[in-house]
Amino acid sequence: MDNKEQLISLLSAFICHASSHLPDDVLKRLGEMREIEKEGFAATIYEAMFENMKLADELKRPSCQDTGVLQFFVKAGTKFPYLDDLADVLREATIKATKEAPLRHNAVEVFEEKNTGNNVGHRIPWIDWEIVPGSSDVEIYLYMAGGGCSLPGFSKVLMPLEGYEGIIKAVFDQMTSYGVNACPPCLVGIGIAGSAEVAAKLSKKALLRPVGSHNPNPRAKMMEEEIENGLNKIGLGPGGLGGKLSVMGVNIEQAARHPATLAVGMNTACWAHRRAGIKISSDLSYDLFTHKGVTL
Ligand code: SF4
Repeated sequence: MDNKEQLISLLSAFICHASSHLPDDVLKRLGEMREIEKEGFAATIYEAMFENMKLADELKRPSCQDTGVLQFFVKAGTKFPYLDDLADVLREATIKATKEAPLRHNAVEVFEEKNTGNNVGHRIPWIDWEIVPGSSDVEIYLYMAGGGCSLPGFSKVLMPLEGYEGIIKAVFDQMTSYGVNACPPCLVGIGIAGSAEVAAKLSKKALLRPVGSHNPNPRAKMMEEEIENGLNKIGLGPGGLGGKLSVMGVNIEQAARHPATLAVGMNTACWAHRRAGIKISSDLSYDLFTHKGVTL
């Protein structure tokens, strides 16, 4: 097996593992929330979730029928020796994992309105690149974005006078309309910037941050906590069937804005928050840092 084939096999195994195992931080948070939701439907839904995860592990099958559209967020070291092949490797790994996991066929070509049957299509899997100067490693985040959760996000530029209150209103409007679509408890990713596309991208990047982490800016952290407390008061509960908690957390990422514009983007992850991160070195050794102790 040459190095390219080795990378395809490694990343296919990475995708398969992510489809059936939630990351450590999400599992921990869901366990904590289960301890708080001890009554009625909420307790039953948590019981079903944990049974579902146990069976996904035992049967080596995806933990949700909607395995999503695959999105990769790559921090590419400029000295990583396989950089030229990486986009191709990610596409091939997606095709291989689609057969092996197996993953639902979720890539429909726009205009042809035809399902490609292998989760690969025009610009899909989506690959977002960040360059890391001087590094010989690559860090790849995988997000399996389902049709009910983080795909139906939104972003818009507010009227300047709407201010931060406008951001909060937009977030609560979205959660009280589409929130239940995303099988709560949700992780809410919010991007704040000067334009719609930057806010949208940051809202997805916010979902890549661990559950329980906070924005280093103290005001942003305060906003994360206040929105989280407010959303929990809505009482969506697990599965949207009522309970004490609606969200696993709220993560905000921001970019400096034009003085006349304030844009907000929002992405909502469901309880099956299939996010995985792997760091691969130039000798092809790896660290699956979101799922500690796992060998692929
Ligand atoms: S929202 Fe999440 S858990 Fe619910 S069906 Fe979609 S991917 Fe599955």
